[in-house]
Amino acid sequence: MRMKTLEHQWLEMLCGRGGGGGKDVQDLKRLAAGFEGECELDRWLGEFGRPHWKIFKDIWIDAGGTTQIDTLIVTGEGIHVFDVKNYSGELEYVDGKWWSGGRRLNKDIFIQLKRSMEKMGVMHHRLGGRGRLTGRIVFVGEHGRVHVKDAVDVEVVMRHDIRRMIHKLIDDEQWNDVLDIGETARLVEDFMIECPYKPRELDDVEFGRLRWGVRCCACGGFGVLAKRYHIECGCGHVEPKEKAVLRTICEYGVLRHERDLKINEVERFLGGIVSRRRLTEILRKNFKLLVGGKYAKHENPCAEYQYTFKNKRFRYD
Ligand SMILES: [Zn+2]
Repeated sequence: MRMKTLEHQWLEMLCGRGGGGGKDVQDLKRLAAGFEGECELDRWLGEFGRPHWKIFKDIWIDAGGTTQIDTLIVTGEGIHVFDVKNYSGELEYVDGKWWSGGRRLNKDIFIQLKRSMEKMGVMHHRLGGRGRLTGRIVFVGEHGRVHVKDAVDVEVVMRHDIRRMIHKLIDDEQWNDVLDIGETARLVEDFMIECPYKPRELDDVEFGRLRWGVRCCACGGFGVLAKRYHIECGCGHVEPKEKAVLRTICEYGVLRHERDLKINEVERFLGGIVSRRRLTEILRKNFKLLVGGKYAKHENPCAEYQYTFKNKRFRYD
């Protein structure tokens, strides 16, 4: 599963609870479109790629500098890097410049991949230079149109060529199967670091202005009614209560990623949907205890429910 970055999750929580300004909304839109595009390439790879390939999704590499990579595939033939773009408008690349609707863009869409490939080159060299190292920029947008009318030293793959590109990777592997994929992937992992960027910290005033309490996971509304084992929303959605509580604790954890889960603060955020005793149990059962007692603190997973509790099932689901 591809994970949304902490910044993406944080902006969703912030904007979904009535916070954030115009720039936050813009950033969220950009990140959501990017994520959607990356998932799109994941689907193509899942359908047409080979199951023994090792695919890394949204990773950070530190090799002579740090860089973020959307998708990295280790095949028997080499290490393949993909920078995924999901644009909906019309773009043109002429004379070394990007244009959109007759206006020149002040960014170079190729530059991120070029910089990444410099660092990947360092990594590849340190790995002994075995196998091929390639970099591609993939335009996945369904409604976007991109015209590259210039010779570029970056391989550009358009949406209608993605399937062919994957078949080419399979073909290349058949002719030149030189890498031990498991071993190469482990070596790549040694270069991986955590994302160095964290969202900003909300101060108590900004946090206090957000809407607290349990949000419906189907419609995003706050009109939920707590029953004994379930919560029910006006939209008709029903969810096990314990799951709703855990999900909301995780949302709190994302919003306040810089702090531990303190029982008093979590209790207030939940807005009384469970008793203090029940909340204590739920925290103890599901989150690592850091400090016990009246002012108990638990470890903040800093990730949404779907990532923190991937395999959890509920009796009343
Ligand atoms: Zn709802």
